[in-house]
Amino acid sequence: MKCPNCDKTMKPQKGIRFNEYTVDGWVCTCGEKYYEPEQAQRILLLNTLKKQSVKAKLGRIRSNLILRLPKDIEMALNLEQGEDVSITVEGDGIKVVKV
Ligand SMILES: [Zn+2]
Repeated sequence: MKCPNCDKTMKPQKGIRFNEYTVDGWVCTCGEKYYEPEQAQRILLLNTLKKQSVKAKLGRIRSNLILRLPKDIEMALNLEQGEDVSITVEGDGIKVVKV
């Protein structure tokens, strides 16, 4: 990949700092960085979601209440169907964390 700043060849690098996260991307000796677009977009989405609350509706399947997670949350947190999560009650709410 060519540097848009100085036209030198950029080196691929893993774990570049991006906000409080790390992503893969390319770096140049001139200091220019290019983040892997999909990873960078996921972090931007994560930051947006941290600043706002998302409304969702509870449903029911037989005796269980179900909570459908919005697509943005699925993408921001890399959640997948069948994945195990852990639920803790906090105050009068719940916290769901990937196991
Ligand atoms: Zn450069």
